[in-house]
Amino acid sequence: MDPIKTDAIVLRVVEFSETSCIVTLFSRTLGKISTIAKGARRKKSPFEAALDLIAICRIVFLHKSSQSLDILTEAKLQRRFRSSAKDLDRFYAGLYLIELLNLMTDDADPHEELFDEAVAAIERIDTADLDDDSEGDDSGSSGNARASTKHALINFEIRLLDLLGHLPMLTHCVDCGRPKTTISRVQFGLNRGGIICQNCRPGKTNVISLSSEGLELLLTITKNETNQNINRDCDIREKVSENLIDVSNQPGYGEVRQLISKYITHLIGHPPRLHQYLGNFSN
Ligand SMILES: [Zn+2]
Repeated sequence: MDPIKTDAIVLRVVEFSETSCIVTLFSRTLGKISTIAKGARRKKSPFEAALDLIAICRIVFLHKSSQSLDILTEAKLQRRFRSSAKDLDRFYAGLYLIELLNLMTDDADPHEELFDEAVAAIERIDTADLDDDSEGDDSGSSGNARASTKHALINFEIRLLDLLGHLPMLTHCVDCGRPKTTISRVQFGLNRGGIICQNCRPGKTNVISLSSEGLELLLTITKNETNQNINRDCDIREKVSENLIDVSNQPGYGEVRQLISKYITHLIGHPPRLHQYLGNFSN
């Protein structure tokens, strides 16, 4: 059992004994892992501040092939989520992001690209208030910081769906494969994960109506080449993050926000716990 050294995001920390914690991490090389951190609750802990939620750290652990917990032997803080202390909205956004990673990925199922996307989104949320002159309002975030956080969240959600194989089908009917023709409202089937044409609509449940502006925005965010396998080789991730300008100002944002939330809820089987705290990012 050789020690594995990798970077990781702290998803969950639960007290286990007087001195130990069980720490769930999303690691770059092995995906989600559950570890026991012995001595983590001691005053002079070998892990120091590395095991705070949303922290990014460099870890060393012993991977058990059986059902038992991995053993965390080292954790060095790379980046603390500093917004935890000063902006509740962005703290919730960070917590939501790690909740999604925890709920939607399987143990020891590596997704290096998803790890990199998550780190980028965490950094973006955490620094959303930098070079921002406007004053924050009562809720903590300034307008720009909030817009930037909305952008980071929806972008991350779409990348997560894409990398885990759940990207919605938006250009063709998900049932019969006919290309979308109408330019008016479309129907989106949560069960099937895509738009449904008039012919296939009857009898379907869990269907949401989406305006043409909403669909247009969703197509922009998802860079819908991925649906048609055109340019599959080009760097979609780069295109998405570079081409996108403040999505929260675009027509149809509120609708798209709702649709993504409902779709993720459907995939998980229940609403993420943090959904109820994201009100300031919902429209
Ligand atoms: Zn159809």
